[in-house]
Amino acid sequence: MISNWGIHRVLFCPGVAGFYCTMRPMSLIVDLHTHSTASDGTLSPSELVTQAGAAGVGLLALTDHDNTEGVAEAREAASGLGIELVSGIEISVTWNAGVVHIVGLDIDIENPLLCRGLAGVRAFRQWRAVEIGERLAKAGIPGAYEGARALSNGRLISRTHFARFLVARGYAPDMRRVFKRFLVSGKPGHVPGRWARLEDAVAWVRAAGGQAVIAHPARYSFSRSKLRRLIGEFSESGGSAIEVVSGSHTREESHTMGRHARDFGLLGSVGSDYHGPESLWNGLGCIAPLPDGVEPVWAAWGQSRQSTHHNTP
Ligand code: AMP
Ligand code: MN
Ligand code: MN
Ligand code: MN
Repeated sequence: MISNWGIHRVLFCPGVAGFYCTMRPMSLIVDLHTHSTASDGTLSPSELVTQAGAAGVGLLALTDHDNTEGVAEAREAASGLGIELVSGIEISVTWNAGVVHIVGLDIDIENPLLCRGLAGVRAFRQWRAVEIGERLAKAGIPGAYEGARALSNGRLISRTHFARFLVARGYAPDMRRVFKRFLVSGKPGHVPGRWARLEDAVAWVRAAGGQAVIAHPARYSFSRSKLRRLIGEFSESGGSAIEVVSGSHTREESHTMGRHARDFGLLGSVGSDYHGPESLWNGLGCIAPLPDGVEPVWAAWGQSRQSTHHNTP
């Protein structure tokens, strides 16, 4: 059992499909950004937790897009494996005419304000899915909505499900190219619209007792000044942390984000953004340590939980 979450050296190993971290951890392996079939991941919540256990992860957050349906199953699976499961969410936000993602960690998934907010976001997501299908049909690709819905198993529909459908039908050779050809701004399957507002997403997470984190900040391709404007507004809204280390960040980007976290007095988070074993570049728990001087977002959780959930260390 985890005796001290303040000890947080995270082992680094490159994410390669089919390989786990083979070094057994002397210290806690943390992964606070993962997806299951409750959104656009390919493993069920319990399969994800099992894989996390095999990878040596001790502190794991399930952060599906705009819904928390997988958390109960993940928690159940984690309890049998000695993994601390953190209830999480990744909220889609429209900021400055672009999309950013806000991860919420350690949330009460039954909080009414959070639940109402997420229901609104999912309503837009569902409308958008139908609209994507219609636009692709006009572009000569019939049946995409039905195809994406079938791949989502009746749960939330993401562009990832459209991408998988299009690749399976041979419209593009791989995920990277299918997004580029069909699903990004200016392409037939891109539908602009309104996700949550930044300050609302942060407020929902806080109302649910959690901590808000800017997900994969280096992925937005913002200029330095625009990124710092985002971090400033996020911080003023009550946001807690930046995902300094991400499966989609280079080492250099992680160091840059670490400097931003320190400058703004924000905590740091680490997360693979794992979507399943198909992705070659980010393995579960296979993420670098936080840069020196960045306070981990999870350091304070252990202290409060040790007194409630842990007996003796
Ligand atoms: P959505 O929230 O439905 O707009 O879908 C966004 C999701 O699509 C992200 O969370 C990623 O999982 C996935 N995604 C976005 N861009 C790419 C890309 N270029 N290649 C693969 N997956 C992507
Ligand atoms: Mn995703
Ligand atoms: Mn994201
Ligand atoms: Mn994600």
